[in-house]
Formats: sequence, C-alpha cells, structure tokens
Amino acid sequence: MIALPLLLLAGIALTLAAGHQGPDSVLRHLYLVPTLWAGLTRGALGGGLIGVLAGLLHAPIALASVERMGLTSQTLDGLLSIGLPIVAGLLVGRLVDGSRARAGRLAAVLAIQRRLDDGGGREDPLGAVAEELRGALQARRLALLVGADVHTGLLAATPTGTLVDPDSAAAWTLRTGVPVRSVDLRADPRIAATEPLDPTPVRALALPLTSGAGVVGVMVVEWTGELSRATRAAAEELALHAGLAVENARLTRRQLHFGEELEEKVAAATGRLRELDRAKTEFLSVVSHELRTPLTALQGFSELLLRSALAPDKARRCLAYIHTEACSLGRIVGELLDLSRIEAGRALEMKPEPVDLDGLMERNVEMFAAEHRQHRFRWTPSPPGVELRADPDALDRMLKNLLSNAVKYSPRGGEVLVSASPAPDQPGMVEVAVEDDGVGIPAEQLSRIFDKYVRVAHPETTSARGLGLGLSLVRALAEAHGGRVEVDSLPGKGSRFRVLLPGPDRHF
Ligand code: ADP
Repeated sequence: MIALPLLLLAGIALTLAAGHQGPDSVLRHLYLVPTLWAGLTRGALGGGLIGVLAGLLHAPIALASVERMGLTSQTLDGLLSIGLPIVAGLLVGRLVDGSRARAGRLAAVLAIQRRLDDGGGREDPLGAVAEELRGALQARRLALLVGADVHTGLLAATPTGTLVDPDSAAAWTLRTGVPVRSVDLRADPRIAATEPLDPTPVRALALPLTSGAGVVGVMVVEWTGELSRATRAAAEELALHAGLAVENARLTRRQLHFGEELEEKVAAATGRLRELDRAKTEFLSVVSHELRTPLTALQGFSELLLRSALAPDKARRCLAYIHTEACSLGRIVGELLDLSRIEAGRALEMKPEPVDLDGLMERNVEMFAAEHRQHRFRWTPSPPGVELRADPDALDRMLKNLLSNAVKYSPRGGEVLVSASPAPDQPGMVEVAVEDDGVGIPAEQLSRIFDKYVRVAHPETTSARGLGLGLSLVRALAEAHGGRVEVDSLPGKGSRFRVLLPGPDRHF
C-alpha cells in the first residue's frame, strides 16, 4: 500500500508549510519517514516515487531561500535535503527488491527440491519444476530438458507445447554444455521463428544444468523486453540449483530402484533355494523308494534261498529275480554317480574307441527280450560302412536307458525297434534309434523331458519306477561325445528317440 506513506508525506508537507519552517528546519528530515516506509514496503519503485515527491515538496522552500539568501551553508543544506529522500528511497527500495528476489529464488530452489523429491507421486514433477522456475524468473516461457539428448531426454515446458528442436539452442547447450544467449529470439537467424514479429524483443537464454556428473540437461528461458543483469544472474543461479536438484533426484531414484531390484533378486533367490530344497527332499524320498524296492526283493529272494531247500528250477528263478533286481540297483547307483559328477561340474570322462554297433544292439535286445516277455524286440543291422568311435560303456548306458524307457512307457506291451545308421538329415552323424509304440509324450512336454527330475504323468504309467534322471543322463553322455539326443513322439502312438553322435571323421 503506497497510499499511507503518501498521506504521511502530505501531512508532513502541510505541517512544514503551516509552521513556516526554513530550508534547514530539523522537521525536513521527517520526509525520510514516508520515503523509507514506501521503499521498505514497495521496493525501489515506491521508495523512488515517494522520495521524488518529498524532494519536490521541499524544493519550493529550499529554492526560495537560495533566491533570498544566496548560496550559504544553510541554503546548501536545504538543497541537499531535496536529493536526500530520492537517494534514500531508491537505495532502500533496491535493497529490499534485491533481498525479496533472493528470498523468492531460495523459495523456488526449495520448491524445486520438494517437487523432485516427492516426484514419485506426481505425474509430471519436471513440469512442476519448470513452472516454479518460470514464476521465480518471471519469464515468458521456460523449458527444461533433462537427459542425454533431445530425442531421449525428458522435456517439460511451460506453458506446455514449447518445442525443443534438435537444431535449437537448447540442443546445442545440451550437447556442448556451453550457454547460448539470444538478444532477440525472433530476429535470431539460428532459431526458426514461427510467431509474428513484435516490436518488443524476446530475449532468450539456454543454460546447461550441470552436476558432478557433467551436463545433465538444459534450461531454456524466454523473456519479453529488457533482460537485466540481475535476472540473468538469477537464471544462472537457478540453473545451477536445478542441475543439482535433478541429479539428486536421479540418484535417489536410482538408489530406490537399486533397492527394489535387490529385494526382487533376494526374493527370487530365496524362492529358488526353497524350490531346490523341496526338490531335494522329494528327490531323496524318490531315491529311497527306488532303492528300497529292489533291496526288498533281494532280501526276500535271498532269504528264501537260505531258509528253504528249493527245487533247482525254483532256485534258478529266485536267482534270476535276484540278478534282475541287482542290475536295477546297479543302474540306479550308476545314474546317481553320473548325476553327482555332473552336479559337481566335472566333465564325464569318455574313452572313445571303435564300437561294434551291431554287437551292442544284439546284446541289449537279447537281454531285454529275455526280461520282458510282453514286448517284441527287433533290431536292424547297421548298413555296411557305418563306423563309430565312442565310449562303449557310455553308449551301452544310453541304449539301456532308452530301451528301459521304451518298455516302461508301453505298459500294454508292444514292439520296440532298435537301429543304427548314418543320420539321414545330419551329414557326418551316426544315429542310434529306439522306437516304441507306447503311450507317447504330449508335444508341450517334449522340451522338458531331458531336464533333471522331470517325469510326465500318464494314467497308464503311474506304477513305472524312475528318478526322472535317465534322459538327462542320456543327454549329458551324448553331449560329452559332441552329439545330442532328439525325440519324436505322438501321444497314444509311441515315441522315437535317437542319439546323434559324430561319425569317425568328426572329432569331439
Ligand atoms: P524316468 O524314466 O526315471 O521317469 P527319464 O528321464 O528316463 O526318467 O524320463 C523322463 C520322462 O520322460 C519319463 O518320466 C516319461 O514320462 C517320459 N518318457 C521317457 N521315455 C519315454 C518313452 N519312450 N515313451 C513315453 N514317455 C517317455
């Protein structure tokens, strides 16, 4: 309110006039009161205005006495009293304006920090910061561009819609970190103006937002009319604070994100450990069950042999059972040993040598045929010239595994075919195939069955014993030879497994 200082000024003038005070009257200093009051409340404009009015009111008295008495120390003092309120009003007013602007900038810095800090809850924290800055700088438009470049950076502009072109001053500052200053934006040939020309020039500043990490963004500000040095300094100061605030917010967010990521990873790892623990428990119970079954048979039949004098044919049958179960035990122990070797990360040691494929197939087929009367086994002699260098023991284990699966998963009996030949679709590879007409495997399970512990449930094979390890071992053994294992299967029709191994001219 400037009215009150004005009233006070008028009151003082009237008092001085009524009292016929001289130019050096002590009361003339009373003019300083409304002048300082206006300066303190209304800044340089108010202080200057009241100061000038005070000077003018005092001028008739001071000038009249100069006319009357000439230049004496008394009249000189009166003359000085004309200028004193003007100088005091302007000076105090400017100081007040300066400290107000400074307080405004500090408030803006605080507001920026706050906006960026609780940015998680806001949709456009950068936009709010831009608006804050524009208010503090009393600018026409202001844009903030934060990020690596104009294409990937985050842009917030106020009023909304201000564009930052890849060829603009903002992009240049963002790239180089060098400020750009334009004295008349619309007449600046570097910047394409879309607005009609106006007599009032538009000043523009593009200032880099810097932090310890370098240039993190750019602040572009436009003002209509003159741009004072103080405003420019204020813009530079705010750009500095904004740069630090942006970097702070970015670091906080990164820290939060890192914390969340860590939490997720720990949760995932804990989940995996729990899953492993559960799998281990389940595995142990399956293994114990798998070991107990042949062991019970071994105990039962051996006891029978010890206790009673059996007829030779019965005793022979008992011994055959004992042999089968001992083989089954041996297979389980072999699988477990192989598994522990793979788990320990040790490579399976292969001792390759020329393999008699036909002899291998014949032996195994005879053995399985003798044990499984429900199934018919056939093997096709390999074509002449098929040679293979492989670890005979490993090859034998792979074949036994596939044959035992072919039997287990065709519970109603059926035909099992074994063959070895050059792989028709894989030049240089030899395939050893086992085909059955059993329950088959659903297509969606085909990629899983070679993984450890994976067993596919089927109503007809619920009593089939197994650890879910056989195929994973077949795969590991094939890979140890530089080969692989593949399967074709149709539910209800049967499966064909083939182990592909490199021929003698291909080394592993
Ligand atoms: P296991 O036989 O001990 O369960 P494997 O690793 O040998 O473990 O086999 C994994 C699963 O793949 C089996 O549980 C079975 O569901 C399926 N499978 C393997 N061979 C055949 C086959 N010839 N026919 C149908 N399913 C099979």
